[in-house]
Amino acid sequence: MFDTIVWVGIGLAMVWLIWKVGLGMLRSMTSSLPPPPPSGEMRRINVRYRCTVCGMELKLTLAPDQNPPPPKHCLEEMQLVAPVD
Ligand SMILES: [Zn+2]
Repeated sequence: MFDTIVWVGIGLAMVWLIWKVGLGMLRSMTSSLPPPPPSGEMRRINVRYRCTVCGMELKLTLAPDQNPPPPKHCLEEMQLVAPVD
């Protein structure tokens, strides 16, 4: 009977440990991402990109800088269509 209690205790300790390690990993993964810049530092832009593979077009209206790197679609960089005013 005592053995069972000990093993249950060890099992619970293991579960707790795995849970803690998992949470720590999750936290370190999320903290490695750069924090989003304050909205005041975002640039209002108006550019259109087209996917050269499937033809999808999208409009970019907000970016951290005036000339953001082109987004990717179908594993290819999208092509700048034309700045819209
Ligand atoms: Zn595409």
